[in-house]
Amino acid sequence: MGEGRVRVCHSERSEESRSISEIFIQEFNMTNTLAINGGKPVREKYLPYAQQWIDDADIKNVIDTLKSDYLTTGPKVKQFEEKIANYVEAKYAVAVANGTAALHSACFSAGIKKGDEVITTPMTFAASANCVLYQGGNPVFADIDSKTYNIDVKDIKRKITKKTKAIIPVDFTGQVVDLDSILEIAEKNNLIVMEDSAHALGSKYKGKKVGSISHLTIFSFHPVKHITTGEGGIITTNNEEFYKKLTLFRNHGITRDNSLLINKKEGSWYYEQLELGYNYRITDIQCALGISQLDKIENFIKRRKEIVNLYNKYLSQINGVIIPYEADYSNSSWHLYVIQLELDKLKVGRKEIFEALKAENIGVNIHYIPVYYHPYYQKIGYKKGVCPNAEKLYERIITLPLFPKITDKDVEDVIEAVNKVIKYYRK
Ligand SMILES: *Cc1c(COP(=O)(O)O)cnc(C)c1O
Repeated sequence: MGEGRVRVCHSERSEESRSISEIFIQEFNMTNTLAINGGKPVREKYLPYAQQWIDDADIKNVIDTLKSDYLTTGPKVKQFEEKIANYVEAKYAVAVANGTAALHSACFSAGIKKGDEVITTPMTFAASANCVLYQGGNPVFADIDSKTYNIDVKDIKRKITKKTKAIIPVDFTGQVVDLDSILEIAEKNNLIVMEDSAHALGSKYKGKKVGSISHLTIFSFHPVKHITTGEGGIITTNNEEFYKKLTLFRNHGITRDNSLLINKKEGSWYYEQLELGYNYRITDIQCALGISQLDKIENFIKRRKEIVNLYNKYLSQINGVIIPYEADYSNSSWHLYVIQLELDKLKVGRKEIFEALKAENIGVNIHYIPVYYHPYYQKIGYKKGVCPNAEKLYERIITLPLFPKITDKDVEDVIEAVNKVIKYYRK
């Protein structure tokens, strides 16, 4: 519905028979006509939902590495790992090919194997659950809290069985999960907590940066995330045993470390494969980029927070839109800005609002389709209905553009477009 309503201004009468005031009214209406109905879009140029920030320092660092002796596994990998470990105040960091490899490596180091259950949220990217499947384990989905959109601690408790080995909570949009409560449950039930902080580099829990609070923490350096290495990921931990397993896993399970070798007398050429690992190595080229990216993180986060404050200030005034809620224990570094539609106040569903915003040249997105909705998960036996809060939220959410490079004018355009579209579709 709604189609055609606004087209009342498209008069059938000829140009000549119209008065100036009629033309004026028509033109005025045209700027308020939704772009999806043929009106002028709020923006000329499409604004993506996320994009990297690359400057001359990044380019120089990468070029220097290209001219150096190492393209992969050289000094830059180590330097990047140390810099990230230092930033998040963790003892160890192991950089790998991407965030998904980081999650898989974490599951390996946590000893997840066939038949083990790992509790996670459906309101995440598929990789947070896929990593459990890679190890032969079974992801178990706990519902979300309808205010924070993060995993509901009470539902974690309900989903624990004798087979549960670990929890993968996700700091959705950058908002940190209730780590104290999750770690307490983990301790009581002897579980390992692998925090998926792909959205949360620089986020703080009760004043302390994520990265060393959980047993293992995972970050991603995909271009939409806080800092980028093109593709890349890292696992941080304070646990030496996990650290050793992680370094083995990213390099085929192969080691030259004499303290780990089974046959110690073979010679200095000797290495052994101790586990079935993968080639999950990251390159020096990527880490060179990561090193200079990390120099900018505080400015990136500052700008993200400024944009969020602008969005919150104006979007909270639009009837029909719910702005993000942040719990007092979390200080988010803001990867995503997700609005919730009050569908009972609107004449249409999320789909129509989404397509209308897109037509206004606003790069909207949806984070996320509940993981177990995907045909693959349905095929392996997951049923819809297990996480009603997540399923309800999915029908109502839209992600708006958020990245350091967007200007205040871009933000105004987004706000104007949301206002225009919601106003049109409001009951
Ligand atoms: C981006 C992301 C990942 C995967 O990271 P990649 O680097 O793209 O493999 C995992 N979990 C969440 C929540 C993410 O947003």
